[in-house]
Amino acid sequence: MPVATIGVFALQGDVREHLRVLTSLGARAIGVRRASELAACDAFVIPGGESTTMIKLARTFDLVDPLRERIAAGMPTFGTCAGMILLADRIEGGTSDQETIGGLDVTVRRNAFGRQVDSFEDDLDFHGIEGPVHAVFIRAPWVEEAGDGVEVLARVEHGPAVGRIVAVRQGPLMATSFHPEVGGGDRIHRLFIDLIRQS
Ligand code: GLN
Repeated sequence: MPVATIGVFALQGDVREHLRVLTSLGARAIGVRRASELAACDAFVIPGGESTTMIKLARTFDLVDPLRERIAAGMPTFGTCAGMILLADRIEGGTSDQETIGGLDVTVRRNAFGRQVDSFEDDLDFHGIEGPVHAVFIRAPWVEEAGDGVEVLARVEHGPAVGRIVAVRQGPLMATSFHPEVGGGDRIHRLFIDLIRQS
């Protein structure tokens, strides 16, 4: 298969980190700010950042509807942290008018881990990956409830939030509560590239 072009939502968030990991894996990765750039992409990544700002900017730049259409048409898409919130069909703890792009049949709770544990790290058992995956959580969401078609890939292993769902997949859509683009390692991005190849 020719090298996939993977777009990274580039209006806000840790865009550069995703571009760096994807490029290091041999993908063609480009920052996307407009629909014309999205049209050139085979797959898409929505980074961590601030979901309320990200969705507002996506509206301003007329990216919400094109993204919804591409996701509905099966474009492989990976959301991390705020990106998971943007991919969720339903959110709890959002601002009163907070919309999402949607596609993933989950309810996501924003800033779910509470103030005491704003940021923490854990070693996860991640479905499809050999050995523990080090995960960095920063004011992260968790998946409160997942629809029947959603596969749970990882849960919190230690501490007060043990058992909470923090990684999911539904067909060509994948999302993590944590930041694989920050935590070091590239195994989760590799998994996403495998998923693009299968799609
Ligand atoms: N708390 C942020 C939000 O609700 C997400 C944090 C992150 O992406 N690191 O958008």
